[in-house]
Amino acid sequence: MSAKTSPPDAGLAPYAAVENRSSGRHYPEPQHGYRGEFQRDRDRIIHSTAFRRLVYKTQVFVNHEGDHYRTRLTHSLEVAQIARTVARSLELNEQLVEAICLAHDLGHTPFGHAGQDALNLCMSDFGGFEHNLQSLRVVDELEEKYASFPGLNLMFETREGILKHCSKKNARSLGELGLRFIDRKQPGLEAQLANLADEIAYNHHDVDDGLRAGLLTVEELSEVALFREQYERVQTTYPDITRRALVHETVRGMINAIVTDLLDTTRQQLADSRPENIDAVREYSSPLVRLSDETGSEHQQLKRFLQRGLYLHEKVQHMTGKAAAIVTALFETYMNDLAVMPAEHMNKAQRWEAESGAAGRARAVADYIAGMTDRYAVAAYQRLVDPDDPL
Ligand code: MG
Repeated sequence: MSAKTSPPDAGLAPYAAVENRSSGRHYPEPQHGYRGEFQRDRDRIIHSTAFRRLVYKTQVFVNHEGDHYRTRLTHSLEVAQIARTVARSLELNEQLVEAICLAHDLGHTPFGHAGQDALNLCMSDFGGFEHNLQSLRVVDELEEKYASFPGLNLMFETREGILKHCSKKNARSLGELGLRFIDRKQPGLEAQLANLADEIAYNHHDVDDGLRAGLLTVEELSEVALFREQYERVQTTYPDITRRALVHETVRGMINAIVTDLLDTTRQQLADSRPENIDAVREYSSPLVRLSDETGSEHQQLKRFLQRGLYLHEKVQHMTGKAAAIVTALFETYMNDLAVMPAEHMNKAQRWEAESGAAGRARAVADYIAGMTDRYAVAAYQRLVDPDDPL
């Protein structure tokens, strides 16, 4: 066995997730010659089939609407980049945080939240559909990569981070992983960081995408303090700047300001509370990774603005209405006739139906639909329901 360049836990703060305190993998595996365990997790996620599909899944704008909008893939990369910067500065486990960020949206349906809401409605009699839980399902069960176990067999801390939210009902079926949702406890700092980096990333890239699409205007955005402050600063510093560079400088300034606040606030929290290790971190009732009260409420203001101005914009709503119709029609079509699904999914649905009735059949259909990219779902809809382009 060749020597490791440096031990994977070297240089990490005492409260970081470390290999030698980890609950490890469900199926024990021998150590790798030169990769740490969380690095292996990150690598497994990048090589997964679900990860490659993220490129054709909607974040807010459906893929064919333009080449420059975020997709689930570029969103996930931006989340990872923000979180890694913070992790490195706080001496947290950068490889774990990257793994969580890259995997956090693996369970997303086609067409973003519209798709997930529609699928959840279709599944209401069969246990529902939660995209966070589905991300966990992808890495625990659905990926077929290994001879000796299902899924990717990731480390406990990576799975803990992927399961950002979970209903209490589902948490009860998840053993140790679900406990924190029942006991109202926290996950490790890397999971807390990935969660906040996700929000920071989408709130800021949606400003950029919304302006690009012409659905938001600078005038409207100026009611948002975080935007206004940076916009005015850039305009004063560079009076002759082009509009495009002005928008980018503004959004970059916003991200820099909020990430700096996150770092300063979290550093202070950690200095005040000095958790001994990751298990001490988990005992807190609220996250240690956080924004200051002032920046936190400005961030909420931005989030509310986007809700109203972008996600509920009639053009976005028009698209999401169609997307929901596609997902619902596909669900009904497959439930009525399993044979129109590819053989592996049909076989799975028949097997699960024999084991657990209609809920098993529905779960196999939901897994198949959730795994689809936007364009795959559109093609299936055209083939099975209506040959006209539904979008
Ligand atoms: Mg996300």
